Amino acid sequence: MKSSQLFTRTRKQAPADETAKNAQLLIRAGFVHKEMAGVYTFLPLGKRVLENVIQIIREEMNAIGGNEISLTALQQKDVWEASGRWSDDVMDVWFRTTLANGTELGLAPTHEEPLTALMKNFIDSYKDLPSYPYQFQIKFRNELRSKSGLMRGREFTMKDLYSFSKDRAEHEAFYEKCAAAYKVIFDRLGIGDITYRTFASGGSFSKFSDEFQTVSPVGEDTIFIHEGKGIALNQEVYTDEVMKDLGIDKNDLVEKTAVEVGNIFTLGTKFSDALDLNYAAEDGTKQPVFMGSYGIGPSRLVGLLAEHFADDRGLVWPENIAPFKVYLAPLGDSVEVTTEAEKLYEQLTKKGIEVLYDDRNVRPGEKFADADLMGIPYRIVISEKTLASSVYEYKGRTDTDAQMLSHTELIAKFV
Ligand code: ATP
Ligand code: MG
Repeated sequence: MKSSQLFTRTRKQAPADETAKNAQLLIRAGFVHKEMAGVYTFLPLGKRVLENVIQIIREEMNAIGGNEISLTALQQKDVWEASGRWSDDVMDVWFRTTLANGTELGLAPTHEEPLTALMKNFIDSYKDLPSYPYQFQIKFRNELRSKSGLMRGREFTMKDLYSFSKDRAEHEAFYEKCAAAYKVIFDRLGIGDITYRTFASGGSFSKFSDEFQTVSPVGEDTIFIHEGKGIALNQEVYTDEVMKDLGIDKNDLVEKTAVEVGNIFTLGTKFSDALDLNYAAEDGTKQPVFMGSYGIGPSRLVGLLAEHFADDRGLVWPENIAPFKVYLAPLGDSVEVTTEAEKLYEQLTKKGIEVLYDDRNVRPGEKFADADLMGIPYRIVISEKTLASSVYEYKGRTDTDAQMLSHTELIAKFV
């Protein structure tokens, strides 16, 4: 892409009311726009980052048998009444609305009820199970506080997968498979070393749920980490009884603040009982479907990654998350420099390398500052000086010094 085609621009200051570092950086770099507290628009660069995060999650969900769908954000009241959750006492985060004819609707805070109702159309017998539909969808939640930037939105993207299994044993096998897939996802996102599978409170169908918590100074949760075992306990289950249960010595635990990036939960037959989702077993008996839910917050992850991969000059994206791999900056507007830059842009693009080509007529300092603020992993500079020596200036985002490379050496960096 050429910078001249990008309608956004970087800015010196984030809005005064924005206190979260992740949102400040992402706004300044032109990745997102703040509509209001907890509500952010993804601009072209931010959208590319979000899609990169989503694509990693998608690949791993498909690998364990996920079927991608897209449920509606407008939800019917009756399915929520059936589960007993159409109530502010149970769901305190609702946004709801009413049609002209008086019909009340909910704006999706989550999708257990409508999906369970939907699956009644497709699950009749044991032959229809198991099934793993999932989606990347907008969720709406009337969060009380929204001071963590993209990490706590009132409108946000969620990956939610739901498992429909014949029984607990089949459920548990998938549950572990999904936990393993989550580990791969967080490794691929570059936060595997600071993300812990964390015991949290369960519900009536299992003692615990599993959260995936990423250590961060701005995290809203408190966890207790056991480095030796590579696991953690959420504060809510940090009791002597639980530690005894898990064979954990209190003295081995380290307290940290963390961000919940994912969460897996055994739902059991809570929703299938409420909405009458049953199947005919092999022996002909009618059985309730055994369910689980598996969430990840892609937009929260974008916030977390921005917060984590940053320095005093701006964002520092890992290569597989960055909106572009290369920032190509021709300096000056001589015909020779422009021609060479166009040529290199074509060559790299043809190789499938994503290049942001800064074809604007602005000062070199401005181009360099933007490349750094946007966190593009590699910067290539072409100037009269480099042309005179038949080299290209090449620099990694965190390198202190640039290297002067021949055309062959430069191309070799990207194969
Ligand atoms: P939290 O305790 O942080 O409010 P939650 O328990 O409400 O999270 P779930 O309902 O399990 O979260 O949602 C699944 C995933 O969606 C979470 O693990 C998180 O990554 C993401 N998520 C939840 N709430 C938000 C939010 N307000 N903004 C952005 N992402 C969110
Ligand atoms: Mg919540």
